[in-house]
Amino acid sequence: MALVHTPSRAIDPTVAFLIAAGTVLLALLTLYLVGFDQGAISRSGMYMHELMHDGRHLLGLPCH
Ligand SMILES: [Zn+2]
Repeated sequence: MALVHTPSRAIDPTVAFLIAAGTVLLALLTLYLVGFDQGAISRSGMYMHELMHDGRHLLGLPCH
């Protein structure tokens, strides 16, 4: 016996694409802030660098 699930309402492909694109952009922004920001783009001085410093070393990203 096979069970077939047919959702009553399919997700619009455009909405699914926008959600996926937003998730990827947010992930890339987080990766940048944790791994590579030195304050030049975020305009936070070294605050963001120092905040993420241990995580940067934990991930093995170049730091100092
Ligand atoms: Zn360091």
